[in-house]
Amino acid sequence: MSADCIFCKIVAGRIPSTKVYEDDAALAFMDIGPIVKGHVLVIPKAHHDPLTAVPAPLLARVMQVVQKVAAAQMAGLGADGVNLHQANGAAAGQVVPHVHFHVIPRFANDGHRWNWKAGAYSAPAEAAALADRIRGALQAGAGGQA
Ligand code: 5GP
Ligand code: ZN
Repeated sequence: MSADCIFCKIVAGRIPSTKVYEDDAALAFMDIGPIVKGHVLVIPKAHHDPLTAVPAPLLARVMQVVQKVAAAQMAGLGADGVNLHQANGAAAGQVVPHVHFHVIPRFANDGHRWNWKAGAYSAPAEAAALADRIRGALQAGAGGQA
């Protein structure tokens, strides 16, 4: 538990939340500011941040809950689809620094549009050079063992 963390306070019951699921590892609760109504946040109960600092076995448990919630949004809310969103760092738009997955039910004509503007590389070599750097970091051990 991190003393100043709003999501740790939710786990501890010191801030109220509308829970949809919990087990020993993870908690799922309604986002107070839904992008689309039915928007759920899934978090590890233990305080970890960012995504890259979550122990892999715990992350696997959290992702199982993400999958369950997505299934429940489709079965229980009649969602036509589901978006996942997960932010790390202020540059990525993260506001609450306790790792969390947004699980957002989507409905045909729900009115939500992602501000997703596809860019372009100046040449294939630019993408290849970036891929080289990512592969190099993976070979050097970034992310640990798969
Ligand atoms: P982030 O921008 O960090 O990815 O998302 C943080 C999310 O936490 C936002 O969608 C916001 O609505 C939600 N949130 C912030 N404070 C609270 C709270 O006290 N209770 C609940 N249920 N959600 C919160
Ligand atoms: Zn926390």
